[in-house]
Amino acid sequence: MARYIGPVCRLCRREKMKLFLKGPKCDSMKCPIERRPYPPGEHGRDRVRQGSEYLTQLREKQKARRIYGVLEKQFRNYYEEANRQQGITGENLLRMLELRLDNIVFRANWGASRSQARQFVRHGHVLVNGRRVTIPSYRARRGDVVSLKDKTRSMIVVRHNLDTLGRQIPPWLEAGGEGFEVTVRDLPMREHIDVPVRESLIVELFSK
Ligand code: SF4
Repeated sequence: MARYIGPVCRLCRREKMKLFLKGPKCDSMKCPIERRPYPPGEHGRDRVRQGSEYLTQLREKQKARRIYGVLEKQFRNYYEEANRQQGITGENLLRMLELRLDNIVFRANWGASRSQARQFVRHGHVLVNGRRVTIPSYRARRGDVVSLKDKTRSMIVVRHNLDTLGRQIPPWLEAGGEGFEVTVRDLPMREHIDVPVRESLIVELFSK
């Protein structure tokens, strides 16, 4: 599946908030949002937009897409599937995004950012129930054990991430294997998904 390969800090500036797409840089003073907290482009600073309902909904959708690194078509497919499922569509949508394999690698503190986590998956460093899975969008199920390959565990970048990131592992994941293994204990509930997205606005946008 394709992915966005353009400049990522512009995406945060467009949303006028940190989306934490770059790992350690996001917490440093090098983060462009610190110096230029306005939309990118020649007129980014000057442009005053009328806040329409549509625009607000659109921005929420773009934000969610950008946080999880999903392109438009795939995001739409997630929505369609969330809408078919029982329960609250917005929550279903976020749950599916959280259960992506690249997101689990990120949540396990193996990858500093979701894009780095995605790269680990693509390069075959990640196992699900002992079998190599190279599809970042692979959706984990309850009971799945996600782990890193033995060789990968000694990689400096992985060890560095584990030692320094210090993000709390969400309660729906259970860490084991000296930090190199996580088990999907349960499906993620909305209160355990800490992304700054108002999913109801995304549902309103798509259900027009
Ligand atoms: Fe966003 Fe991180 Fe770039 Fe800051 S450094 S603008 S948070 S991606």
